[in-house]
Amino acid sequence: MARFLVTGGAGYVGSHVVLALRERGDEVVVVDDLRQGHRAAVPADTELVVADVADSRALAEVFAAWRFDGVLHFAALSLVGESMRDPLRYLSENLCNTLAVADAAVKAGCRRFVLSSTAALFGNPETTPIDETARLAPTSAYGESKRMAEAGLDWADQVHGLRSAALRYFNAAGADPQGRLGEDHHPETHLIPLAINAALGLGPELTVFGTDYPTPDGTCIRDYVHVTDLADAHLRVLDALEDGPSVRYNVGNGQGHSVREVLDAVERVSGRRVPHSIGPRRAGDPAVLVASNERLRRETGWVPRYAALDDIVRTAWAWREAHPRGYDSRRQGPAAQAA
Ligand code: UDP
Repeated sequence: MARFLVTGGAGYVGSHVVLALRERGDEVVVVDDLRQGHRAAVPADTELVVADVADSRALAEVFAAWRFDGVLHFAALSLVGESMRDPLRYLSENLCNTLAVADAAVKAGCRRFVLSSTAALFGNPETTPIDETARLAPTSAYGESKRMAEAGLDWADQVHGLRSAALRYFNAAGADPQGRLGEDHHPETHLIPLAINAALGLGPELTVFGTDYPTPDGTCIRDYVHVTDLADAHLRVLDALEDGPSVRYNVGNGQGHSVREVLDAVERVSGRRVPHSIGPRRAGDPAVLVASNERLRRETGWVPRYAALDDIVRTAWAWREAHPRGYDSRRQGPAAQAA
């Protein structure tokens, strides 16, 4: 049995990884300030330290209290649009926190580090699908913050021997197939949950951001990868780091779906209409972002188990239908308003 520190383990991807680690018998300590994360997303028998990773004293206490076999660092700001309104905050928080957690790991003698990275590293890619040799050319401060974080980890490896994996997620989507965890962002900005909320009457009608892209139906194409498959990728790279070198992987299904195809899938799976209208393009959206997952498959044996768009949407739909107000139904309830 091993013990892992998971920062941001109460968040969307982090919580699915924590669940996967616990299911295979690993011990986990979650550090999460619950700004975005949810207490209810952390298993009851898992240690949760409510703290900001930027709090150096809290971080030192965590590393003093436990010995870790590895660190998985999810805690970060992650909204592209927000990053373009507040770039310096994104650059400093995401970079400094990654460096601080990596530094604490090095000082504690911990040798394995997994970073949540992003397809936003690639900006407007020159080729598709995007493999790991593609040029890093982020077009947002969010993407740049992760590029810098990856560069920091390169130095930590070169100088201190900290072995790291950076997983560049494409569009994380779906929910735990057993219905224990789901996607619950405030505010929600992602296509699939927004479309589901619109279909369920839980949110406003969806706006399709642009129908004039150079794609077959004119809407943007993205690579939606199931969050449980993402979690599996984390476990595989974590194990491979035990005696392997630092790695960088693009993690996606390897197939793209347009916004219209996603709306069709939500309607097929739910039997309901997705109320929507057509709006202008969203600034900074590339037409097509699809991963090549060849390297990840070849080197770790990873195979996406929920590759079909309908399977991804079905799990997301099931969780949202069972949790119409997300994890914290009190958030919008009378008690929360009175507080
Ligand atoms: N999108 C949309 N309407 C929305 C939200 C998203 O048309 O209300 C589109 C967006 O332009 C992109 C795709 O859906 O092409 C996925 O967007 P999302 O924000 O989910 O993820 P991103 O690709 O930005 O990481």
